[in-house]
Amino acid sequence: TRQAVIAGNWKMNKTRPEAKALIEEMIPLVKDADCGVIICVPYTNLETAIAATKGTNIKVGAENCHWAKSGAFTAEVSADMLKEVGVEYVIIGHSERRQYFGETDVTVNQRVRAALDAGLKVILCVGELLNEREQGITEEICSMQTKIALAGVSKEEMKDIIIAYEPVWAIGTGKTATADQADEVCGAIRGVIAKLYDDATAQATTIQYGGSMNAKNADELLGKVNVDGGLIGGASLKAPDFAAIIAAAS
Ligand code: 13P
Repeated sequence: TRQAVIAGNWKMNKTRPEAKALIEEMIPLVKDADCGVIICVPYTNLETAIAATKGTNIKVGAENCHWAKSGAFTAEVSADMLKEVGVEYVIIGHSERRQYFGETDVTVNQRVRAALDAGLKVILCVGELLNEREQGITEEICSMQTKIALAGVSKEEMKDIIIAYEPVWAIGTGKTATADQADEVCGAIRGVIAKLYDDATAQATTIQYGGSMNAKNADELLGKVNVDGGLIGGASLKAPDFAAIIAAAS
């Protein structure tokens, strides 16, 4: 019943001409996708991406948004600003934001709330550090991150939330979680949703895996019952690789 969604996270990559070229290369390769397709791009590429994907099955997202409506927050971008540009999705709580830019579970929650209030859909990222996995507290960490991020989000609003389970040790490292590890934690997060809301909501929520997913390992990861797609970094910057992952999800 729930839809698989493959989302690219371009991170801090691509100028506008490069973005346009990559999207144009991608369009014919993903047009028959049997899953949702999203690309999340740097702020400077949003208008270009929205124009280039018009009339296609590719949806566009941003990589973050601020929690305030407006104000003295130098270099931040509000959810309303994104909405007005025509953005449909926004990634919130990516581990790189948590690690390098001091985002906390509380600010992640505020950003989620602001995004929903602006009418954006959210890709909410959660995931454990390597030392947390080694301590055996992966599920506790992911549960806690999920619960705090979703505070104040109604059952009705959960249709606009995608969760991405991204073990931090697997991001950009070439170390992928095994399909069983991914399935186990995505399943645990689904259990948290069931407890917070109800079983129907948990079953309807798309829960992605992210972290060194590529054309080679996508099939096995996406074959797992609790893995409903992927959030793809490096491999989303190459059209044939991104298309191969999308084909694996279809
Ligand atoms: P990589 O696919 O490059 O490991 O990045 C994953 C990620 O952080 C997506 O948000």
